[in-house]
Amino acid sequence: MTDVVIVGGGPAGLSAALFTAKNDLETVVFDADETWMHKAHLYNYLGIESIDGSEFMEAAREHVEAHGATIREEVVEAVGRHDGGFVVETDADDYDARYLVLATGTDRELAEQLGCETTEDGTVAVGLDMETSVENAYATGGMVRDRTWQAVISAGDGGAAALDVLSKEAGEPFHDFDSPE
Ligand SMILES: Cc1cc2nc3c(=O)[nH]c(=O)nc-3n(C[C@H](O)[C@H](O)[C@H](O)COP(=O)(O)OP(=O)(O)OC[C@H]3O[C@@H](n4cnc5c(N)ncnc54)[C@H](O)[C@@H]3O)c2cc1C
Repeated sequence: MTDVVIVGGGPAGLSAALFTAKNDLETVVFDADETWMHKAHLYNYLGIESIDGSEFMEAAREHVEAHGATIREEVVEAVGRHDGGFVVETDADDYDARYLVLATGTDRELAEQLGCETTEDGTVAVGLDMETSVENAYATGGMVRDRTWQAVISAGDGGAAALDVLSKEAGEPFHDFDSPE
């Protein structure tokens, strides 16, 4: 069983993958590679003055793969609960996971399929740790926000979800802090 399956490889999904893979959880990202970032040019991502959206995504993919995450270009068709974890059905195969991070942009279909509660405005209901009403299932990025759709916000959501997973694994609040040598 995979530790963490992430559906969606935009800024939210890859940010979650970076944190979980960097901290030694087996991490698989399924991505149809239709991120909005392919239509964007960023001038508002902190620390980067100007970058083409697709170029940003290429660097992000290389970054998470360098930390051991696997990215599969498969479309997830269904998700469900199974054996205390989750089953993820793609157009190629079925996979089991202990934690599930949904990062499918504004597409809320899989979250609804899983039975995640929604808010009055139709977004997926989450707390600050991005966990949904379904234990160990997280929702991030466009699907949890009515309008505030920005790359840096999605990346923050993904990081928050991953830190909650890592905290559960550690049994105490987890900080991914590194210091200069
Ligand atoms: C024209 C335009 C310009 C923009 N300009 C800016 C800008 O200047 N600055 C800025 O900060 N933001 C900008 N944005 C917004 C930014 O692109 C989004 O906020 C960001 O991409 C959201 O990231 P995300 O990870 O939440 O979702 P997305 O980037 O949408 O990623 C979702 C990913 O999930 C995949 N996916 C969905 N369903 C499935 C499935 N069932 N199986 C497998 N994969 C799946 C999709 O293919 C996609 O790759 C712009 C958007 C547009 C449209």
